[in-house]
Amino acid sequence: MTTGQMEAGQHKNASNKTFSGLQRKETLEAMAQQQFDVIVIGGGITGAGIALDAQSRGLRTALIEMQDFASGTSSRSTKLVHGGLRYLKQLDVKVVAEVGKERAIVYENGPHVTTPEWMLLPFYKGGTFGKLSTSLGLRVYDFLAGVKRSERRKMFSPDVTLQHEPLLKKKDLRGGGYYVEYRTDDARLTIEVMKKAVELGAMAVNYAKVEELIVKDGTLVGVRVVDQLAGGTVGKDSSDPSASYALYASKIVNAAGPWVDTLREMDHSKQGKTLHLTKGVHLVFDQSRFPLGQAIYFDTPDGRMVFAIPRDGKTYVGTTDTNYKGDIANPRITMADRAYVLRAANEMFPSLGLMEADVESSWTGLRPLIHQEGKDPSEISRRDEIFISGSGLISMAGGKLTGYRKMAESVVNQIAAMLVAEGKVSAELPPSRTKTLPISGGDVGGSAQLAPFLRSRVSQGLRLGLTEPETMLLAQRYGSNVDTVFALLEQYRDEAARRGMPAAVLAALVYAIEREMVVKPADFFIRRTGALFFDIAWARQWKAAATAFLAERFRWSEAQTAAYTAELDQLLHEAVHPLEA
Ligand SMILES: Cc1cc2nc3c(=O)[nH]c(=O)nc-3n(C[C@H](O)[C@H](O)[C@H](O)COP(=O)(O)OP(=O)(O)OC[C@H]3O[C@@H](n4cnc5c(N)ncnc54)[C@H](O)[C@@H]3O)c2cc1C
Repeated sequence: MTTGQMEAGQHKNASNKTFSGLQRKETLEAMAQQQFDVIVIGGGITGAGIALDAQSRGLRTALIEMQDFASGTSSRSTKLVHGGLRYLKQLDVKVVAEVGKERAIVYENGPHVTTPEWMLLPFYKGGTFGKLSTSLGLRVYDFLAGVKRSERRKMFSPDVTLQHEPLLKKKDLRGGGYYVEYRTDDARLTIEVMKKAVELGAMAVNYAKVEELIVKDGTLVGVRVVDQLAGGTVGKDSSDPSASYALYASKIVNAAGPWVDTLREMDHSKQGKTLHLTKGVHLVFDQSRFPLGQAIYFDTPDGRMVFAIPRDGKTYVGTTDTNYKGDIANPRITMADRAYVLRAANEMFPSLGLMEADVESSWTGLRPLIHQEGKDPSEISRRDEIFISGSGLISMAGGKLTGYRKMAESVVNQIAAMLVAEGKVSAELPPSRTKTLPISGGDVGGSAQLAPFLRSRVSQGLRLGLTEPETMLLAQRYGSNVDTVFALLEQYRDEAARRGMPAAVLAALVYAIEREMVVKPADFFIRRTGALFFDIAWARQWKAAATAFLAERFRWSEAQTAAYTAELDQLLHEAVHPLEA
């Protein structure tokens, strides 16, 4: 038993295992009543992974997120759980080997959020890759990444390459390499990992910002957290003292992604290696305008590599990689970013003649990389590192979505060793068990059982009056949790009709509020459904009805409702209107 567990026993009960938006305040209050083993600052994939690893080893864990979960970089990536072929180009063999093996684990534990996708890498006369280097590179990649036999690379002639993707530029085409990447939904992956941590007893809250580190005798013992939604304010810090909470733990982890250095500044420990933020944008097109049938990884005119990926009736293309110094919370796409991606796409798919007006949506993210002197953005290593400050702040910097589980395992190994050495745990903690631990929604019996699982749920959905595509969408999004969504669908059928909403939309919204801590329209339309990126028309269609429902559930004032409506409208606007500079 840990010190945290012993002390918590004297206070109010530990975790209530709730992850409901309606219980946020109660959860924060309960958090302030106990001593934790670990507090994680940051609710992106890094923080969620650490919370899951720590809690699943029996450490009493809390996680604090100042915005919505995954609203930092973890909803703004290329959405690939990948083996990191690009790192082979940088000869970062260790990263290729590690993330390649890791993706198989990520897939097994959550096959509903991760899908294997064959990727075509065309090569041209004078391009970055030739036939030999592609063939050799992909073979080395298969070997390093431990790729399973059925997914090992194939090499295509120019004709076969074009059969796979007729939209490709034909001039000077010399052939193509064919290999497997894994497509994911980064934000949903983050949420599912977090839900699993909460299911096991971790406590997690969004819109709660760590504004101060609490230090005693030179050692970090806690954090002061301010509820960002308190007092009816919308996204502002509240001066209401009842909105401020002191949380205590033996170890504090800084998993703040692009804000890692901001926390290190708060700790007066930002020295030595620092973060280097680079910006990446993606553009989304409708399939009617960009009917890509096959995911492509291709050269840009300036010698970089970008992806074009078909998904849910859309095609997305990206990414850029440029140094960034602006507002971390709200990086915006510029006209230059848009022009860059359009030019790259038009160069590789010349028959399309894509224009600005064809861009249906976009997103912009910041890579929290570790600075390397004299390197260009695309050359900086994506490796992760752990920094431990004099006060004991444990910062996790760099890394990839793909490596989240392994990163979490190594940081929690260090935490466990420190807790043992400090006598704060009575015995050795068990080793990490996340390698074989399904994340929330992943209880489908492993990847091999996903197809039969989906088939069985389709028949159930049809019985509930849904179409096959509607059911597939829900079953793939929620995995084994879809049964709860189906139950809500029955429960809310009449109310949905009264509100003029499809029952499936209302059921997903209620699920998001009660089981995924949604508190704002933007949480639902961006992080829980991805609609702002991949079905912006759906977001526009249902935003008023969804906001009205949220307003009633959360008893918002007119001013609050107006503010949250405006916030979503602004984000819908920004997705299609780049900044000039
Ligand atoms: C354009 C782009 C493409 C990418 N593509 C891929 C890819 O295809 N595959 C891949 O594996 N990786 C990819 N990555 C990398 C990957 O997305 C990131 O490594 C990962 O998402 C980082 O997650 P994180 O949790 O460390 O950071 P974040 O997701 O940013 O999470 C940090 C969180 O900390 C919170 N926070 C900060 N300060 C505080 C505070 N004071 N109090 C409370 N909370 C706080 C923030 O609000 C934020 O939500 C890509 C990155 C970019 C930018």
